[in-house]
Amino acid sequence: MKCERCGREYPSRYYFRTKTICTECFKKMNPEEQRASMQPRGIYAMTTTAFTIDGYEIVKSLGVIRGLTVRSRSIFGTIGAGLQTIIGGNITLFTELCETTRSEAYELLVTHAEEIGANGVIGIRYDATEVTAGVTEVLCYGTAVVVKPLQA
Ligand SMILES: [Zn+2]
Repeated sequence: MKCERCGREYPSRYYFRTKTICTECFKKMNPEEQRASMQPRGIYAMTTTAFTIDGYEIVKSLGVIRGLTVRSRSIFGTIGAGLQTIIGGNITLFTELCETTRSEAYELLVTHAEEIGANGVIGIRYDATEVTAGVTEVLCYGTAVVVKPLQA
């Protein structure tokens, strides 16, 4: 995934504010440009932890969908994080791992939503379980919906 404006490579669409523009670039744009770039709004703009999407009505609910990913820590990561734990503060090696894992689960969720014909996902939640020592399952779930703009 490449950002249209800065040309930076990203591992997934999780880092994008619109279909082609990353969150970083989006923040730097003026409100006029932002509005223009949001047209048409892709499914990523239609994902929310809430149960409604402002300015849109839910015309159809397609049921609960999920994205699931299982990750293990590398032995080197564990040693490195162990050292960070001794020093204290933010354990960046684990923060990074958790961030990547969650973005993967989210990505799968959205892909699945698109597959079944949804154009939005509401009520998104995350759940994580340690399957066995060092192996974590991350689940991202929500309700796939079909939305349409509210009539003014
Ligand atoms: Zn960018």
